Amino acid sequence: MVIVGMKKILIDVDEVICNTTFLYYINEFLNSNYKLDDFSNYYLDEIVPEDRREEFYDFYMSHDVYEKSELIDGAYDGLKWINDNFEVYLLSSCIMFNREKESGKLFADKYNFIINKLPFLNPERIIFSNVKNMIVSDIQVDDRLKHLLGPVKDKILFTAYHNKNISNEELSKNGIRRVNSWDELVNYLKEMYF
Ligand SMILES: [Mg+2]
Repeated sequence: MVIVGMKKILIDVDEVICNTTFLYYINEFLNSNYKLDDFSNYYLDEIVPEDRREEFYDFYMSHDVYEKSELIDGAYDGLKWINDNFEVYLLSSCIMFNREKESGKLFADKYNFIINKLPFLNPERIIFSNVKNMIVSDIQVDDRLKHLLGPVKDKILFTAYHNKNISNEELSKNGIRRVNSWDELVNYLKEMYF
């Protein structure tokens, strides 16, 4: 059901709704024990020695990459509330750089994860695109700054391991606010729109 006048909100999936399993498979592959807190750079795979990276991507892609994924704290209840009060669109990229031909399975893995874990969301409002900046909406939540530079009015950066060092100054220069959790996100939306 779409209630006329409901605000549209775009919500990213990876590192906003759920954690990705990239690091899990890196640890499996390298027999290591890295934690997300060990990283401040987005590209976790750079920890894999360069001469083994293609082998690692094969290993990673041979799994359902969402099987070990978990919802981020508060995401289920937060999304449920948002879904009752806004027109929710998930906006997520699925194409892996240099693995474009095999990336179809990433769309499928992500879609299956979403509809199984978040059955109250409307599957018709899932948008898979690596080009997020061209989509117009009232509100957008993402963990990557580069995805928040489009024509959306209210832009929200969701804190993740790789964006902690982005200064408030840089965010405000781009008209972006930061939230650190689903509680903060829901509280902000309640204050701002109700
Ligand atoms: Mg993300």
